[in-house]
Amino acid sequence: MILGKYSFGIGDRFCHQGKPQLAALIKAKEQGLDITPVWNKSHREHNIIGTSHADTRKEADDAVAAYEWNRPYLVDADHIGLNNVDEFIASSDFFTLDVADYIGKKAEETDIKSFVQKYKKYTGTLAIDGIDKTFDISEEQITAIADKSLTAVKQAGKIYRHISSAKGADNFITEVSMDETAQPQTPVEMFFILAAIADEGIPAQTIAPKFTGRFNKGVDYVGDIRGFAKEFEEDVAVVAFAVKEFGLPENLKLSIHSGSDKFSIYGPIAKALKKFDAGLHIKTAGTTWLEELIGLAMAAPDGLSIAKEVYDKALSRMDELCGPYQTVIDIDREKLPTAQEVDKWDGERFASVLRHEQSCEHYNINFRQLLHVAYKVAAEMGIRFSNALDKYEDIIAENVTENIYERHIRPLFIGLQSEFGYK
Ligand SMILES: [Zn+2]
Repeated sequence: MILGKYSFGIGDRFCHQGKPQLAALIKAKEQGLDITPVWNKSHREHNIIGTSHADTRKEADDAVAAYEWNRPYLVDADHIGLNNVDEFIASSDFFTLDVADYIGKKAEETDIKSFVQKYKKYTGTLAIDGIDKTFDISEEQITAIADKSLTAVKQAGKIYRHISSAKGADNFITEVSMDETAQPQTPVEMFFILAAIADEGIPAQTIAPKFTGRFNKGVDYVGDIRGFAKEFEEDVAVVAFAVKEFGLPENLKLSIHSGSDKFSIYGPIAKALKKFDAGLHIKTAGTTWLEELIGLAMAAPDGLSIAKEVYDKALSRMDELCGPYQTVIDIDREKLPTAQEVDKWDGERFASVLRHEQSCEHYNINFRQLLHVAYKVAAEMGIRFSNALDKYEDIIAENVTENIYERHIRPLFIGLQSEFGYK
């Protein structure tokens, strides 16, 4: 199975928005841009909501059938490990092997030695096509990278072989993710990690490093944008170089996790993709649930009262809800409106505080982040919440499609194909 050049991670908390998400990709297709939809959902999300991956598969299949999408589409077992991969095998054809917890675990001396022996030919000055500067590589540096990363890559190998023996090697796409680590990987680290991935026989088609800066859930990038732009370009160049050096799959590309709403870096990303004629996978699924809340709020009055109830409960259960997301949210509690204040709002006001329009005077980044992690509250409302999603399907769908197409696909992929008829 070969993943297309551009692919987009969708999938949503409650498995309700398959069609409006796919509609955004259909709009892109109408503009001549081929983007493969990938429905992704992690074990963590399924656990919190009480869904299974078969629900995600059904959501994808139903949307594809309803809109007669005759292009490739995939279902991604996101952030899986050996302990939970089995429940994803039947329903997935894309697997994101998460080995972040193994990074930094000491590797075997013999493995480190043979790795250094094999790759010490890169010591000295290393020049990579497309990067102006050169890198000084020492044997100590390769040793340190091997020591820190080989255990993680070997673990990825175990997961890969487990899936491969169950599904057959040609029947799925493999991503290796290291994004949920404390430290970002430098382009040089990534180069040697890709060497180890090739040695392990993992035909990775996407790799998700941790980039510098903060990729908080559902809000814009926080960090040095020029620094990010430089690092991202170097990563793209390293991937292309590693493909040639190590015989990795030709279409290997970067995958950006927590990629939704990182508006300030979409420009630099698009520029790098264009410069290197590179592909991209980006995962955005989490914020579709916020579009559901926006749609409900605009469908006053009973939709609005559900949205307000979610906020009210989220406020009183903040620690519990934020717990699993501690490293990827920054909420200033002082700046959250009180439940009494929110209760006075009309639907337009609720939507404008939540919607990610940074130029809007009402937009509140803290309110948005808290609601982003509050989907558990909605899950607990059960049928009452899902009935509201059904009842206000049309207005929600409009928001979901517009968010993905206008705020994500357009700025990221616009102008990437020369024959592109974008207006
Ligand atoms: Zn991730």
